[in-house]
Amino acid sequence: MILNKNNESKIINGKNYSKDFLIHVSNLAFKFENLLNRKPCLAVILIGDDNASKVYVKNKILTAKDTNIKSIEILLSNNTSEINLLNEINKLNNDDRIDGILVQLPLPDHIQVKKVVNSISPKKDVDGFHPQNFGNLILGNETVVPCTPLGCWYMLKKELNDLTGYHAVVIGRSNIVGKPMQSLLIKENCTVTVAHSKTRGLAEISNKADILIAAIGRPEFITSEFINSNSVIIDVGINRVNKKLVGDVRFQDGLKIAKKITPVPGGVGPMTIACLMYNTVKLAYRRNNQMFNEILL
Ligand code: NDP
Repeated sequence: MILNKNNESKIINGKNYSKDFLIHVSNLAFKFENLLNRKPCLAVILIGDDNASKVYVKNKILTAKDTNIKSIEILLSNNTSEINLLNEINKLNNDDRIDGILVQLPLPDHIQVKKVVNSISPKKDVDGFHPQNFGNLILGNETVVPCTPLGCWYMLKKELNDLTGYHAVVIGRSNIVGKPMQSLLIKENCTVTVAHSKTRGLAEISNKADILIAAIGRPEFITSEFINSNSVIIDVGINRVNKKLVGDVRFQDGLKIAKKITPVPGGVGPMTIACLMYNTVKLAYRRNNQMFNEILL
């Protein structure tokens, strides 16, 4: 689709938002270094040689460097046992120089995600997946918020400011995106509908959304009949089709009909990484009993 001034202004530019946000995060990281005489430190564990995971980890490490965050990469082979992984996590939990621990998902089939998530100290849980942090999110308490939903929330607040009263439809109920997104939107006084693969009449429900979050994992599943002219669409999906990345929303339909839309790539992805950096710095301050009364927006 050819972009002109009219439809270009509809694009929510996650890349630009993430650049601004990262300047802020790196300032916080420098301030931390001045206080503690060391940089905040993120440990990333990568298991196996999945190409997409390798790219994600590389981007995280590079962004950390640019943000004045130290990073440590731990590479484990695909046949690493669950107990070996848990031992590695335990070492990191007990290492005072490490502020945040991230285990890159997906994991090989012989390792249980739940066990791994539960084994990371809640104080170092940069992904915000530990039941303690997740529970606090549902309760509306201050906590570490999972990076992707936090990035979506950030862009929505920048675009719409006050979300009170909006009808938000979240398609997808995963622990990583859909469920935490629901909690953030409820806290913002939205009326939230969460849809999933068993939902009946999805297009009709989706069509009533003021805010539409698509976190499905199906390439270009959301087409014109799901979209209304008032909707602000956040497309979380990352799908590789013929060596090209596409979202869960057919972008040209969203651009034509909706009020605003995030592109793929260049939307939620960069904001997710920026939020990972934010969470690392936040945990570094907290673990070291430094004030972190940071107001995000
Ligand atoms: P999951 O596979 O864990 O969850 C997908 C959700 O979509 C499930 O709740 C599922 O329903 C629902 N779903 C699947 N098919 C349909 C359908 N036909 N109609 C309605 N709902 C459906 O995926 P994730 O939440 O982990 O990720 C979703 C997408 O977001 C993926 O493309 C992923 O790559 C991307 N992603 C992007 C990130 C980023 O940084 N930009 C970060 C994380 C994810 P049910 O529960 O009933 O099975």
